[in-house]
Amino acid sequence: MAKIAINIATGTLQQAEVIVGIDLGTTNSLVAVIHPETGKPVALKEHDSSALVPSLIHFSEGGQVQVGNAAREFLISDPANTIFSAKRLMGKTYQDVSCNAHPLAYTIVDEADKLVKVKVAGKYFSAVELSSLILKALKNSAEHIIKTPVTKAVITVPAYFNDAQRQATRDAGKAAGLDVLRIINEPTAASLAYGFGLDKTSTKTIAVYDLGGGTFDISILTIANGIFEVLATNGNTFLGGDDFDAAIVEYWMNKYGFINSDTAATHRQQLRLDAEEAKKQLSDQQAYESVYENTKLQLSREKLHELVAPLIETSIACCRNAMKDAAISLADIDEVIMVGGSTRMPLVKKTVGNFFGKAVNDSVNPDEVVALGAAIQADILAGNTKDLLLLDVTPLSLGLETMGGLMDVLLPRNSKIPVKAARQYTTYKDGQSGMKIAVYQGERDMVKDNRRLAEFNLTGIPAMPAGLPKVEVSFLINADGILLVNARELRSGIEQSVEVKPQYGLTDEAVEKMLLDSMEHALEDMQMRALTEARTEGEQLLQTTERFIHKNMTMMSREELIETSQAMQALQLSIDMADKNLIQEKAAALNTISKPYAERIMDEAVSKAMAGRKV
Ligand code: ADP
Ligand code: MG
Repeated sequence: MAKIAINIATGTLQQAEVIVGIDLGTTNSLVAVIHPETGKPVALKEHDSSALVPSLIHFSEGGQVQVGNAAREFLISDPANTIFSAKRLMGKTYQDVSCNAHPLAYTIVDEADKLVKVKVAGKYFSAVELSSLILKALKNSAEHIIKTPVTKAVITVPAYFNDAQRQATRDAGKAAGLDVLRIINEPTAASLAYGFGLDKTSTKTIAVYDLGGGTFDISILTIANGIFEVLATNGNTFLGGDDFDAAIVEYWMNKYGFINSDTAATHRQQLRLDAEEAKKQLSDQQAYESVYENTKLQLSREKLHELVAPLIETSIACCRNAMKDAAISLADIDEVIMVGGSTRMPLVKKTVGNFFGKAVNDSVNPDEVVALGAAIQADILAGNTKDLLLLDVTPLSLGLETMGGLMDVLLPRNSKIPVKAARQYTTYKDGQSGMKIAVYQGERDMVKDNRRLAEFNLTGIPAMPAGLPKVEVSFLINADGILLVNARELRSGIEQSVEVKPQYGLTDEAVEKMLLDSMEHALEDMQMRALTEARTEGEQLLQTTERFIHKNMTMMSREELIETSQAMQALQLSIDMADKNLIQEKAAALNTISKPYAERIMDEAVSKAMAGRKV
């Protein structure tokens, strides 16, 4: 993908509201946005520098905090106060972290089953706080580059992150002043950056091979009609470019005799940066040479390959396991895409290509690909990408069952998510203490023809006459596509909610069939709805009239009683006959009969009440 330089002087990226995509990496983090002119995602960078911000934080004794490149030099000079790999701590307890074979250079606090904390410069920091410092730095630098406030973001996480780790990432975003609209999987973001899943018609199976600085992930995804599904993930949370660097350092230590010196430890630390530089250069060149303390450091591409081949081989073992879990064959894989800085190594591409039996796709910058995909997702959420229907809109209407089994739609289909809607309902019986909330999805007028998603009872409504309680039912679909239904009786405050995944188990064919059905039955449905409404009104009228007569019988004449009872019977008969016009006619007749005495009785009641009061 062509890189697009951002013209800072003219501020071409200026826009009213941006949603940024953020790759919060273990080793490097970066921010990307959709360029307002080209419509293509770009990684944000200051001038000619790299877009990558090392995920490092240095705390000085004086309380100063430095993030990114500025913190890099302290990795060697002040390791105890320099935090790296904070992402590894997200959602983890001391126990989880301390049993890792790889010790951290900074201090973690031993509180067995509590979330891990880091003690640095005399203060304690949670993983969320540490990540929020990185996110805050990314936010500030993005604002500086695009000259626009940045308050909304999509942040990526590894596909294997559990709920606690995803929530921790969200919290870190919030703490950094970002509204995290969505957390998406890194392999999904990478696939989006490659344009997979953007056209609704294609179905693809993709292997995303992500080799970064300290972690390796392989994910097998299928994309069908714009819906991503992770079939399997595998990997090694302690395998990456750092291990390649360490292998080079060991090789040099031996070759140049540093290993036997008194200052071996210092050499080892200092050689790390040279080793990384050598590794990177050898991705494009055949040989590397530099000078370190009067020693000429040398490394050939061939030697490098010999050193790292066993490490790369362990990643292939993970690929094999992932394929087994996904229960598909190598021939089913349509694309193998390269993610992470370490996939720039020719040997990595070759080995992975050999395993999958096809050339890997590395056409998008592997350092930026995840952030670029997050920017595309952000753009979809902003409503700028129209094609991706199923990812960001409700494919079918969502509503409640109301009287007579009618579907009352709160969120019409194609509502853009996140979205919220609310409506008030009331009871139809005196003293009714519960209300059934049944949630349906579909386009038909009667709920029986739609798909039931959930049902619960709002109980404990205080005794009140029919029609008095106000029950507000709200539907909220968050950006992750989860529907939260809440019912609340406004007078008493009692409430209850339920969470459902409307998309769950819903295939594209199912959606299509429901839409076709609704068109086919449109007329029939309309007639049915009209009948149901008339019937419900008729039944309610019968109930109210009955209650009224029961209460006021002594104030009515015999004729009035007989006439009313006859009209009620006629109305009941028309309801039983399911004849909409007849129901309406008989309901009107009953109203005409009851109106005069109802008014008279009300008047009498009022004057009686007045008479009782001394004015
Ligand atoms: P993460 O996703 O874990 O934050 P990255 O994807 O940014 O990490 O990858 C960082 C790793 O990529 C580092 O180990 C770095 O040395 C390595 N790397 C970057 N460029 C190259 C290159 N040209 N050749 C080989 N390795 C590289
Ligand atoms: Mg990464």
